[in-house]
Amino acid sequence: MIRSSGARRVAAACPRSTSRRQTGDVSPPEHRELVVIGGGPAGAATAIRAAARGVAVTVFEKGLPGRDKICGDGLTPRAVRALDDLGVDLHDAHRIDGLRMRANRTVRQMDWPGIDPFPAHGAVWPRRQLDLRLMELAEKAGAELRWGEAADPVLEGDRVVGVRVGDRTVTADLVVLAAGAPGAAARLLGAERDPDEPFGLAIRTYAESPRHAERHLEACLTLTDEAGVAVPGYGWIFPAGDGTVNIGVGALSTMKGFKRLNLNRLQESYRALVGEDWQLGPDLERPRAWRLPMSTVRRHGPGWVAIGDAAGLVNPMNGEGIDYGLESGMLVADLFVDHPVATVPVRYDAEIGARFDQFLRTGRRFSFLIGHPWILRSGLRFAVGTQQVAELTLQVMGNLVDGATPGAGGRVMRLADRSLAAADPLLRRTRATA
Ligand SMILES: Cc1cc2nc3c(=O)[nH]c(=O)nc-3n(C[C@H](O)[C@H](O)[C@H](O)COP(=O)(O)OP(=O)(O)OC[C@H]3O[C@@H](n4cnc5c(N)ncnc54)[C@H](O)[C@@H]3O)c2cc1C
Repeated sequence: MIRSSGARRVAAACPRSTSRRQTGDVSPPEHRELVVIGGGPAGAATAIRAAARGVAVTVFEKGLPGRDKICGDGLTPRAVRALDDLGVDLHDAHRIDGLRMRANRTVRQMDWPGIDPFPAHGAVWPRRQLDLRLMELAEKAGAELRWGEAADPVLEGDRVVGVRVGDRTVTADLVVLAAGAPGAAARLLGAERDPDEPFGLAIRTYAESPRHAERHLEACLTLTDEAGVAVPGYGWIFPAGDGTVNIGVGALSTMKGFKRLNLNRLQESYRALVGEDWQLGPDLERPRAWRLPMSTVRRHGPGWVAIGDAAGLVNPMNGEGIDYGLESGMLVADLFVDHPVATVPVRYDAEIGARFDQFLRTGRRFSFLIGHPWILRSGLRFAVGTQQVAELTLQVMGNLVDGATPGAGGRVMRLADRSLAAADPLLRRTRATA
């Protein structure tokens, strides 16, 4: 275990300690104001912001420094803005100017639109580097990092009072669950995925390519499974600017036959489609898959909140989750500093809901819709039919516009929110079965 301690204030005493009888502790529990379980973008963002504002915060990350996360490594303008807000310098990331969409023979290349308040560029930043940089910044701001230590919430009744680390307890005024796609800790808190809502699965690897320095992401929207069924999802090549590209595919659970979908084969067929164009070298590692959580039953309770993937905050329209982790992480830290701690979980739930719920709900309804292959096919023809519509599609899918945005983007969002809400019961009744 590597342990570093740069915190401004480390309280040794515990005002609300868990009893020795309950925990089996042999030493008195440590106490921190804020404890974060998980050092991905969400947990690190909480720690950076909280520590910078003088909070005694500890992050438990069960991986070691430089741990990898299965990801496309793509940062939208929304994510770039969030990183900017956190004071993260993006010089080491590969700058991206836009997206090229492929749908059968149609190819549309768009630049990021630069709609206020988002910049007109994104980035690709391999997660080994991005996540390490964020944790370094957290430590620099004064957070205590505990690498290699798994932490689980400790409950007294329905209240989370701290975390269990090995045979010790660390108590906290607030515990932030930032442990990624729901697992054991989420089950304990009742923060699991809502079984009625969709989720995604995606797989990726890296390969060398002479086109690694290109400034546009590429996405192929017309994937089909082995039976020729249209897959709601996309294949991507994200140039990393370091000699390599990130290549992967993702699919939504709303498609018929999802349980039988073989992601490895889908990845192979996508690779075969684009391999020559990109002059791809052999895979640099075995392709690995992971979940994209798009809902949770609960994201707060007494003494705790969930952020990022642990709160199901992934954009169903493009699979993006880094930004949502950063934004939810910063929000928790600010609420913790600005309000009485007992009110933070409820406030957080309300504020994160006001920011994202409408969009994420619309996205999930949209994913039910495109689970039907014939709707997906005709929708795609429309989405890439003209350059103007393709540009609007990019704005909507990247969550760069909302109903209040002036112009066509705002109008499309208002229409989508209203019509998909009205169609919700029908969409659920007629959903394709996995
Ligand atoms: C194949 C794939 C491609 C993707 N591509 C993109 C993309 O291009 N752009 C994008 O924005 N999003 C993408 N995503 C989604 C993105 O990876 C996640 O949304 C993002 O990582 C969420 O950040 P997080 O901090 O919430 O969780 P994570 O990044 O999963 O971090 C959680 C951390 O918690 C740690 N942890 C878990 N349990 C414990 C414990 N008990 N104690 C201590 N530590 C613990 C884990 O080790 C991990 O480091 C992709 C996802 C997949 C699967």
